[in-house]
Amino acid sequence: MQLNSRYLSEVTSVFSQLTLHERLLKAVAELNFVEPTPVQAAAIPLALEGRDLRVTAQTGSGKTAAFVLPMLNRLIDLKGPRVEIRALILLPTRELAQQTLKEVQRFAQFTYIKAGLVTGGEDFKEQAAMLRKVPDVLIGTPGRLLEQLNAGNLDLSHVQVLVLDEADRMLDMGFAEDMERLCHECANREQTLLFSATTGGAALRDMIGKVLKEPEHLMLNSVSQLAEGTRQQVITADHDQHKEQIIQWLLANETFKKAIIFSNTRIMADRIYGHLVAKDIKAFVLHGDKDQKDRKQAIDRFKEGGSKVLVATDVAARGLDIDGLDLVINFDMPRSGDEYVHRIGRTGRAGGEGLAISLITHNDWNLMSSIERYLKQQFERRVIKEVKGTYSGPKKVKASGKAAGVKKKKTDKKAGDKKAGDKKVAAKRKPTAKPKKNAPLASADGMAPLKKRAPAAE
Ligand code: AMP
Repeated sequence: MQLNSRYLSEVTSVFSQLTLHERLLKAVAELNFVEPTPVQAAAIPLALEGRDLRVTAQTGSGKTAAFVLPMLNRLIDLKGPRVEIRALILLPTRELAQQTLKEVQRFAQFTYIKAGLVTGGEDFKEQAAMLRKVPDVLIGTPGRLLEQLNAGNLDLSHVQVLVLDEADRMLDMGFAEDMERLCHECANREQTLLFSATTGGAALRDMIGKVLKEPEHLMLNSVSQLAEGTRQQVITADHDQHKEQIIQWLLANETFKKAIIFSNTRIMADRIYGHLVAKDIKAFVLHGDKDQKDRKQAIDRFKEGGSKVLVATDVAARGLDIDGLDLVINFDMPRSGDEYVHRIGRTGRAGGEGLAISLITHNDWNLMSSIERYLKQQFERRVIKEVKGTYSGPKKVKASGKAAGVKKKKTDKKAGDKKAGDKKVAAKRKPTAKPKKNAPLASADGMAPLKKRAPAAE
């Protein structure tokens, strides 16, 4: 299948230039949306033409309105009584489903279009009763939708528009078969819109090949989105305990409303959480081992301000839309540029200020420099004298920014971990050579040869 790619950086327009129905424009005005975000400016006109789209854009980019508005526009024009489900939005989690329902209702407030929700964790019979009233737009998670389908409560054969939101995450969560089955049930659809936060791997490509027809691929220029309002810093660290010490300092000394600390594994997320609790810092932890109830409780309390700090793994934190999030700390460097963009994209939203800090040991250095090249920017090097360690970057760096002539020392981390301790960290040694300040960052094609995403650690 031929995929056309469009790399978009700056697309500006105003909503009134989009050929949306006046009732939708009224809702947009009511919500005080003045300018479409880049993903909206790029996707809405093509979606209104009826094209299938594959869009790479992260949470916070305004992606929901990018598919909801054209979808409602199509349904508004339908004549006569509506007695069938006309649009299905498939997404990975209950929280995202609830957020999306709110968004649909806000945009549909001046129309007669009704939306319904089918997710796990809710009363099955009540959902079946809601389905008997037949919403125009159905929003749901794959597992429960299939259960309702298998119980004979759901007819998707009249669905005209199918949206797969956060498709990469649904695949990460093992929903591939369920997604395919549900797509198959929407056999008469006229349009499919697939959104993912990352460019994904083979599973996503496979899904795209199966469910989209000659899609236009919109890649939103994450770099320009990141540059707005979010400072990006790196702090070098000697080992994990040193990172914990730095985090403690940051949480005590930075001014922030809400912070997320990302780790690559759930074990480390639990460990960081335990460390914070031990230091009397109130925090919540979110990872794949948590059940739905704990997850929801942690998210709700974090949103309400029950704690200012959330420790999370990537998969667990996908799709969260949290107001006032202005500090992101990468305990580990994410394993891909996309994942970095996704983590950092949560701060500095809607013009707000954000700060992103990555903690870099000897083992993280090369990954960090790959991500710098991918983003075509150099992160600000920050040194905090109160928690300064001995490592300050490789002695020599190559033109690519990677460490020169450094063989991976397998024992480094262990040794560091063993010897680590607050005293050891505080003992200062003369820092080693700093990286070349103006080392070129971009490779010839501008896209760094980043490694493929490692299998999800979740
Ligand atoms: P999303 O990426 O869809 O989760 O959207 C992130 C947030 O941005 C949501 O709270 C939206 O209501 C808001 N938003 C989306 N589009 C716009 C816009 N054009 N102007 C202002 N806010 C927006």
